Amino acid sequence: MPGGDGTGSRWGGGGGGRGRGGRGRGMGGGFAQGPDGECVCPNCGYREKHRLGTPCYSLKCPKCGTPMTRA
Ligand SMILES: [Zn+2]
Repeated sequence: MPGGDGTGSRWGGGGGGRGRGGRGRGMGGGFAQGPDGECVCPNCGYREKHRLGTPCYSLKCPKCGTPMTRA
């Protein structure tokens, strides 16, 4: 790379290139549901911390026994 003549030094310039800020794959999307959250009882409103690997609908409200849903 040293000794090049010209080609390729075009990019320190700061012209109107498409630099950065395009699509960064950050935490934008991927999970349909976040890794944590709460489950809520649709009947009485009881909330409980959602646990990873345990779908809310498999939990039952300790108060009224209704299957929980995702908050
Ligand atoms: Zn309930």
